[in-house]
Amino acid sequence: MSSNRDLMVRCPFDDSIYGTCTSTAAEQVPAAIARARRAQAAWAAAPVTDRARVFRRLAALILDNRDKILDTIQAETGKARLSAFEEVMDASRAVRVFAGSAPGLLRPRRRAGAIPVLTSTVEHHRPVGVVGIINPWNYPFNLPASDGAQALLAGNAVVLKPDSQTPFTALLLAELLTGAGLPDGLFQVLPGSGAELGPALVAGVDYLMFTGSTATGRQLATACAERLIGFSGELGGKNPLLVLDDADLATAAAGTVHGAFANTGQVCVGIERAYIHQSVHDEFVDRLVALVRGLRLGVGYDWNLDVGSLSSAKQLAAVSTHVDDAVAKGATVLAGGRARPDLGPYCYEPTVLTGVTEDMLACREETFGPVLAVYRVASDDEAVARANDSRYGLNASVWSARRGPEVAARLRTGTVNVNEGYAAAWGSHAAPMGGMGESGVGRRHGDHGLLKYTEPQTVSVQRLHRIAPPPKLGNEGYATVMTAAIRLLNGGRR
Ligand code: NAP
Repeated sequence: MSSNRDLMVRCPFDDSIYGTCTSTAAEQVPAAIARARRAQAAWAAAPVTDRARVFRRLAALILDNRDKILDTIQAETGKARLSAFEEVMDASRAVRVFAGSAPGLLRPRRRAGAIPVLTSTVEHHRPVGVVGIINPWNYPFNLPASDGAQALLAGNAVVLKPDSQTPFTALLLAELLTGAGLPDGLFQVLPGSGAELGPALVAGVDYLMFTGSTATGRQLATACAERLIGFSGELGGKNPLLVLDDADLATAAAGTVHGAFANTGQVCVGIERAYIHQSVHDEFVDRLVALVRGLRLGVGYDWNLDVGSLSSAKQLAAVSTHVDDAVAKGATVLAGGRARPDLGPYCYEPTVLTGVTEDMLACREETFGPVLAVYRVASDDEAVARANDSRYGLNASVWSARRGPEVAARLRTGTVNVNEGYAAAWGSHAAPMGGMGESGVGRRHGDHGLLKYTEPQTVSVQRLHRIAPPPKLGNEGYATVMTAAIRLLNGGRR
């Protein structure tokens, strides 16, 4: 049990207090879920096209309120304005794409019946009920906007627990949803600690969508399994990038910089390992290092910075630990490699390392910061083998003029971006996004992302005859007739 407390949010730009909101007490969670459940019944009964209209309006409202959203995201996360804009752009587009596809996806579908003519079968997708969403701090706006949209479009209500660091961005999203016409009670934000609210949430919801660390995801998946409710987890990554010998090196270097350092490297699909073919390695690294050294690091709300602050003292400590450990064990810093308290309390320079070996934390552990390790490889085979040698499998990036799709087929990751770091696959909202291995279960985006929030229900109507021996025919006669009938249905003997 917990009680209401003030949740103080600090701005990473200068560690000042940005705002204080009331945290939810664990004992308030069941009432919030009950309220969501009451609102959900009418929402599920409304035509999907009515639900879609709300999200078409939301897509426009997000763009209309762009600057307010950017200011709030930046204040809570410390990211650069351009990185915050990626959230706005992504959220508006995702919501609009899902609003367009939901009516078709949720349409009841006629399926072949058990016995032609006599059985008519329809597949329906019923909403699961109340969906719980637990979100991390690194993408506080676009993730709950897009996950929430898919859950709500499917006819569910949503109860969102945002990260303790980013409640105001979540509350702003709720305000925009209300402005777009979402009825009361369908999207509730419960600010507060995950450890305290998590159990009450899992105990009451019908499905849990979690984005965050693999450790927390594993714990929540276990709790959901106990209740036999659905769970989707978008978890950690240690995402590889491959530069093949036929890549355009100027584009590849610029794309690697974005893939590794956007959002100050705090991107689940961001790049932390780069495998470069030996024939282009030196030229690629020269280009990369020159670009990284030119990145503008700092804090503030203007558009002229490329890389913002890390989000917290905890993130700064984690990044510093990985780099210091690598350097102490013999890695070489090609760019960056140090904190910049002169720019902001949690600023850390975009960093490129070489000579990273198995005994170093940065080799296999997710750094989740602006740190890229570069490795030289002798062939595509070696690049693929080393890229796949990870417990994670979220995203990969391949740079090649001709062999991208062929190499992609050999990679064990949920998304592969060819000639892009992460944005092409992530931004393809009509296609699924998620991780293999310890990067997660389930998918967001695409048809999977929406249908996972539904229970498929098959309704079959049987006419004239039941599927059982008619009294006059007897069991053996029935078996003879049905053997012939099934042979016919199967299309003959072979
Ligand atoms: P985290 O510690 O797992 O926290 C994420 C969320 O889970 C927060 O809202 C947190 O609440 C909550 N939480 C923590 N413990 C909980 C518990 N026992 N029960 C219920 N909820 C709990 O993750 P993080 O380290 O802050 O976030 C970064 C991680 O997220 C990285 O590993 C990153 O790769 C991953 N991520 C993945 C994706 C993806 O799409 N695959 C996207 C973004 C981030 P409080 O912090 O408020 O207490």
